[in-house]
Amino acid sequence: MDPDQRRGASGLSEFELIRRYFDRGPRRALLGVGDDCALLRPNAGFELAVTTDMLIEGRHFAADAAPRSLGHKSLAVNLSDLAAIGAAPRWALLAIGLPAADPAWLEQFSAGLFALAERFGVELVGGDTTRAPLITVSIVALGEVPADVALYRSAAKPGDDIWVSGELGGAALALQRPQIPEAARRLHEPEPRVELGERLRGLAHAAIDVSDGLVGDLRHILERSQVGANVEYARVPRLGAFATLGDAALERDCVLSGGDDYELLFTAPAARRPAIDALARELGLPLTRIGSIAAGKPELVVRDARGEPMACRGGFDHFGSGA
Ligand code: ADP
Ligand code: MG
Repeated sequence: MDPDQRRGASGLSEFELIRRYFDRGPRRALLGVGDDCALLRPNAGFELAVTTDMLIEGRHFAADAAPRSLGHKSLAVNLSDLAAIGAAPRWALLAIGLPAADPAWLEQFSAGLFALAERFGVELVGGDTTRAPLITVSIVALGEVPADVALYRSAAKPGDDIWVSGELGGAALALQRPQIPEAARRLHEPEPRVELGERLRGLAHAAIDVSDGLVGDLRHILERSQVGANVEYARVPRLGAFATLGDAALERDCVLSGGDDYELLFTAPAARRPAIDALARELGLPLTRIGSIAAGKPELVVRDARGEPMACRGGFDHFGSGA
């Protein structure tokens, strides 16, 4: 940030802001917030998983979005990516652009971010802070996964079952029906499936997190793995609120094509069914078998309760027609 921009209307300088809201002291990192770089030492025999996701005001959230939820979600979407590859989250960097240094906003934002970080032992080791016309939050998250067991999108095999965690459609429903609390929670405070991702090592073949919608994200697995898939729509687990809404078209759209749920979608050989069912009970998280992987072209067929193929939108694309 330019020196003349460093002190905002609140009287808070850039460095005071960083120290007050984003520096919680070093723990495991060799060097964290306050130096030119963070210094990290991954455990011997582990691979480093690195991901980044950006949230921009007006695109991903409204200007008046609750800052505590935004702090949570900014980190949650990144931890979800780490979970989807089977990595344990360790460190994060936060690049943040703000129109103003508002202490009340920063207090809430950092509280939401650190509450999630501390639950999963994630250490904030650096970042960048700048004035910007719109609130912009970009986090880099780093995790560790033992060598050779990461869950690649390209690892699905014909005959695999297709599984999904939790319930789908809630976040998309919240955009249409913001007054339904259980839907709003899915949109604003998604739960990254961190433990599940780690436990799927050695059990699952391929995995991805559902950020752009079931259909779109499953297609990423199919393209990468060069396989086809059959999904039974009736089996896809969905938010309970749909049962009372009685809007079949809205439900189909949210459940199959709605993004932002951050559940894990994964494939596994049929021999693993008992182990996956046991894992679901242990984690207290529903894991539901919704279809199977087939040999052949990367085509997805979703069938309705009568066995008829259904038309469905392909998932969210920022530069496609849906954007
Ligand atoms: P530099 O000039 O080297 O880029 P900065 O002045 O941008 O350093 O940042 C000072 C220190 O504070 C660095 O260690 C940086 O990683 C850290 N930092 C800056 N912004 C944030 C933030 N929003 N959250 C966490 N750490 C931050
Ligand atoms: Mg900097």
